[in-house]
Amino acid sequence: MKYLDEFSNPELARRLLERIRSATSRRWAIMEVCGGQTHSIIRHGIDQLLPDRIEMIHGPGCPVCVTPLEVIDKALEIAAQPGVIFCSFGDMLRVPGSHKDLFRIKSEGGDVRVVYSPLDALQVAKANPDRQVVFFGIGFETTAPANAMTVYQAKRLGIPNFSLLVSHVLVPPAIAAIMESPDCRVQAFLAAGHVCTVMGTGEYPPLAEKYRVPMVVTGFEPLDILEGIRRTVEQLEAGRHEVENAYPRAVAAEGNPAAKAMLEDVFEVTDRAWRGIGVIPRSGWRLSDEYREYDAEHRFRVGDLHTAESSVCRSGEVLQGLIKPHECSAFGTLCTPRNPLGATMVSSEGACAAYYLYRRLDLPAEVAHA
Ligand code: SF4
Repeated sequence: MKYLDEFSNPELARRLLERIRSATSRRWAIMEVCGGQTHSIIRHGIDQLLPDRIEMIHGPGCPVCVTPLEVIDKALEIAAQPGVIFCSFGDMLRVPGSHKDLFRIKSEGGDVRVVYSPLDALQVAKANPDRQVVFFGIGFETTAPANAMTVYQAKRLGIPNFSLLVSHVLVPPAIAAIMESPDCRVQAFLAAGHVCTVMGTGEYPPLAEKYRVPMVVTGFEPLDILEGIRRTVEQLEAGRHEVENAYPRAVAAEGNPAAKAMLEDVFEVTDRAWRGIGVIPRSGWRLSDEYREYDAEHRFRVGDLHTAESSVCRSGEVLQGLIKPHECSAFGTLCTPRNPLGATMVSSEGACAAYYLYRRLDLPAEVAHA
């Protein structure tokens, strides 16, 4: 299939691996920020094909994984209310809150619906004017434009029974937080190609300069990732710390101006808590004053919830690249995709789920052969 097969060509992959091997003279630790890249790296065994001296550290770029527990609990509280239709992408339904998940709310009679676009939720609102319809708007800069467009349309079309439960997060402040951590081992970044498709590359040169780390904008297919790693290693070996675009078929330096204008109109920057990591200043978006009436938190006045994380889950350390998933004692035993204790085991972009699905030999023998 065009655009998939041609970016998975084994011969080209071998050549790129050889170039990486011959360029590598010492140990390097490179973080792929995006969960989609983590999934691709583990699925295709790229980390196992790389020279031993290159370690891939999996970053916090899985939107489902970093949505804070408090927001999940608010979603559960809103979804359980009579008269509410709660719409979400499917992967949020199994994310554990403090005591239950959205599937449980649905089984208890809540009207929880899976949609494929926030605009579908707006249609549900139009068709049910006597009900309150809420869309769970989470994710990075990638998913935010569609959510912004939906709120913009709700206001323009005068659909008062629609609202958005917002928990958007931003990549550049997360990179800064990772680099400021005293335990940080990251020496270079593969920047997330789809985020840069929206936002462009302009936010990254100051970060590369401040922290003296190469940043290579990278795609998601195996050859994309190998090319991103090759360019990163060549910069590291040469002592350079520049921003390079290895994904020019999707990313322009200025990003998508129409999407950025919509984001600027509908959202404003705010401090945001990241699940397992904590509050990162100015690392998220919320609805701006002009659209505040469409904010579900404002409309339903959910607040002051007492949250309780699993005591065994180490997803915060996984998300910061401090441990690999199989180093958590619950991995593959107490915690599996069917019975996840943490969000990193739920989403297909979560590192724990990727290790479970593609790296079964790391499981205890009785589980791996079950
Ligand atoms: S394996 Fe499960 S319990 Fe352990 S860190 Fe991952 S999500 Fe949390």
